[in-house]
Amino acid sequence: MRKVSRSLPAPEGLGIEVIGVPVGSAVELDLRLESVVEGVLVTGTVEAELKGECVRCLEPIEQSLEADFQELYYYPESADRFGGSSKAAEDDDEDEEASRLEGDLFDLEPVLRDAVVLALPLQPVCQEDCLGLCSECGARLTDDPDHHHEAVDPRWAALQGLSALGSEAGSEDSGTREGAAENQEK
Ligand SMILES: [Zn+2]
Ligand SMILES: [Zn+2]
Repeated sequence: MRKVSRSLPAPEGLGIEVIGVPVGSAVELDLRLESVVEGVLVTGTVEAELKGECVRCLEPIEQSLEADFQELYYYPESADRFGGSSKAAEDDDEDEEASRLEGDLFDLEPVLRDAVVLALPLQPVCQEDCLGLCSECGARLTDDPDHHHEAVDPRWAALQGLSALGSEAGSEDSGTREGAAENQEK
């Protein structure tokens, strides 16, 4: 058995639309390689930093992710049994195979992607009780829990003042329209 720890730049696709591991950011891998009859059993833990946005209020989110995975990598000889390829296996001692896998962590990418995507929050939120956005003005309600739109709001009071002016202007308007109608008749 052999243990390997690596830090690698994140490949593409370690995420979903709303959250994921940014491409190129560090992915920490802790692997345990065990020789078994068919090949090498790789048991691992992946740690990475996620970036995304809250599905309720769209605030940026950063959180760390840790996921476990396990995959059996078959020796080329066992694959040959099914594929019929006759690659020379002159040096097939277990250590050689283990180190080959170790040097070829690229094979881990699909396994890694599955482990990360499964561990992602499907509906990431900035905080469990995020109140989302005001449906009327788009303000972030968590910043301002008492936020509301009622007549006591000074902005609405100001609008009420405007509508009062509007009705006065409306009566003047009808006066000018009458005048215009008189002009048209002449
Ligand atoms: Zn939020
Ligand atoms: Zn609002």
